Amino acid sequence: MMTMQFCECGGLLVPDRQSDGKVQMRCPACGKTINSDSNSKAFEITQKIPHSEQEKTVIIEKPHGIETMPTTNVNCEKCSNTEAVYWQLQTRSADEASTTFYRCKRCGHTWRDYG
Ligand SMILES: [Zn+2]
Ligand SMILES: [Zn+2]
Repeated sequence: MMTMQFCECGGLLVPDRQSDGKVQMRCPACGKTINSDSNSKAFEITQKIPHSEQEKTVIIEKPHGIETMPTTNVNCEKCSNTEAVYWQLQTRSADEASTTFYRCKRCGHTWRDYG
C-alpha cells in the first residue's frame, strides 16, 4: 500500500522509473525528484488546521468611516476618557445578539460590550 507523498512545493509526487531501473518519486510541478528509498516520511504532509481557537477570537477591526460614526459617553478603561465611538456587529451565529463595540476617541482602545 503506497502512501501519497507531496513535494515541498505542495505538488503530488508521482513514481518515475529511471533508466537504471530505480524508481524515484518525481514532482510534476517543479520537477524535483526524491529518492523513494530515503526517509520519505519527511515529505508526508499532515493536514492539521487548528481553527477552533481562531473561531473563538473576535477580530475587532476599525470599520470603514469611523470618523463619521456616532459617539457615546462611556468610560475607557485604558485612559479614563469618557467619549468613544460605537458600532454594532451582528455575529454569524444566529443564537447571538448583535454586539456593540466601542473605540475610545482619545487612545483608540477598542472593546466590546458583553451586554
Ligand atoms: Zn515540487
Ligand atoms: Zn482611552
